[in-house]
Amino acid sequence: MHWCLPFRFLLTLLSSILALGDSGFAQLDGAPPSKIAIVGAGIGGTATAHFLRQHFGPEVHIDVFEKGTVGGRLATVTVNHQDYESGGSIIHSLNLHMQDFVKQLGLKYRKNVAGKTAVFNGEEFILEETDWYLLDLFRLWWRYGISFIRLQMWVEEIMEKFMRIYKYQGHGYAFSSVEELLHSLGGSGFLNMTHRSLSESLLELGVSQRFIDEVIAPVMRVNYGQNISIPAFVGAVSLAGAQANLWAVEGGNKLVCSGLLKLAKANLIQAQVTTISPHAAGESTQYQLNYATLTEKGSEFYDIVVVATPLQSSVGSGISFQGFEPQLPDIAGSYHHTVASIVHGYLNCSYFGFPDPKLFPFASVLTTDSPGLFFNSAASICPVNISTGFRRKQPQEAGVYKVFSPQPLDKPALKTLFRSYYSVQVTDWQAYPHYGSTQDLPPVVLHDSLYYLNGIEWAGSAMEMSSVAAKNIALLAYHRWSRQLEMVDQKDLMHKIKTEL
Ligand SMILES: Cc1cc2nc3c(=O)[nH]c(=O)nc-3n(C[C@H](O)[C@H](O)[C@H](O)COP(=O)(O)OP(=O)(O)OC[C@H]3O[C@@H](n4cnc5c(N)ncnc54)[C@H](O)[C@@H]3O)c2cc1C
Repeated sequence: MHWCLPFRFLLTLLSSILALGDSGFAQLDGAPPSKIAIVGAGIGGTATAHFLRQHFGPEVHIDVFEKGTVGGRLATVTVNHQDYESGGSIIHSLNLHMQDFVKQLGLKYRKNVAGKTAVFNGEEFILEETDWYLLDLFRLWWRYGISFIRLQMWVEEIMEKFMRIYKYQGHGYAFSSVEELLHSLGGSGFLNMTHRSLSESLLELGVSQRFIDEVIAPVMRVNYGQNISIPAFVGAVSLAGAQANLWAVEGGNKLVCSGLLKLAKANLIQAQVTTISPHAAGESTQYQLNYATLTEKGSEFYDIVVVATPLQSSVGSGISFQGFEPQLPDIAGSYHHTVASIVHGYLNCSYFGFPDPKLFPFASVLTTDSPGLFFNSAASICPVNISTGFRRKQPQEAGVYKVFSPQPLDKPALKTLFRSYYSVQVTDWQAYPHYGSTQDLPPVVLHDSLYYLNGIEWAGSAMEMSSVAAKNIALLAYHRWSRQLEMVDQKDLMHKIKTEL
């Protein structure tokens, strides 16, 4: 749409001549932006489209660029005519944005199919869930003392503070950085948790080393493919995801993304954004996005741009920022590879010490951080559509299993875990940040009206974290555009909100 550029430019120039007062990132005449671009149609990008539509109203044109498949890291693979989650799969009952999306889109919760979990150390099971809750509690107490109670209280306290975000966002408050957001929720304690290791924080809390090695480490391995040296904040996000009351979306979690695009009346452009560059348009800035499909190249101008994909060079978004003065800072860090292998076959229960598969009672096997263990977890999984009367396959039957491992499983590894198999489907994910304990959190505001969503993943990578970041960016973009800066980075929000009521 190059043809309309001079006209748009004139309009922008006119509005900036008419505008009085200081220059900056926003329009002064109260007019909404006319075009917004979002790069990436994962849950972060599509939720941003939805929230931006809510805040800026029906007139603004929203383009969402996607170089791959809508859903991004929410994806399914098909085995025997049934679909299974291969990326982000579970959602916590207190993930209120995800819940709200499902409700607004008329989607359904997928039924939970019970199954027991055990922890394997490469030689034997060291912890086994039974059918009796009280027995499990007694065993935990016997082996670890009150470590699990201390842990539970710690996670609950963090979650309670984290839940404040829904109140703040409900009242329209936004944050210009991940640090500001975390600080408003949990003060310097939350910020410290993004720098201190999980093991250090838990030891200080009085959780035993044995509990950390045998329970916490397996949870970190299944959720983030990493060990207990990850930062305490992301550790807490991971532990919250290991609690009861988890759910998923019937038909596949990615349905939320396609649904939100429709709800937002956003225009999906299947193309890779290659460059983003600023152009002065009177007193404000527009951004030129160059993009490429397999067959052609294009270019468009936007008033606001949200990048909703990781920008670390190792992830390969292929976006280059050109013409910024000063240059935009490099986004440091790298993403962690996790290989998800969806295997249709017969589990080798003998490997786990159960020669008779009929006696193998577990649906999920987690692992400790033991040298030589080549997989993080192996679990019998259920399809995204669960019909009434569905039952989980027994280990003596051919079932569908998801194995997470740091490297693709070679033939010997597959033969170790499976007696035989019909198919293996492999997704090598750049799954989540490779967490170091001293990583700085990336910026949210890259330039006047250019925003970056995925910095939040360095505090915690999950569907809900991307959704919280999406709502924050929509509010931030709206307040900065309309110059309501009193709604950004306000201190002491709990108190403020109480007195507002
Ligand atoms: C194996 C695995 C298991 C997980 N398990 C869970 C879980 O159980 N629960 C949970 O809550 N979270 C889980 N997560 C994390 C969760 O999936 C992610 O945090 C979340 O999906 C990230 O969404 P996003 O939209 O921010 O990023 P993405 O989903 O990565 O979306 C970014 C999109 O941008 C597109 N893109 C990139 N560059 C360009 C470009 N230049 N132009 C156009 N498009 C571009 C990409 O193709 C992609 O579709 C898991 C992740 C993985 C990989």
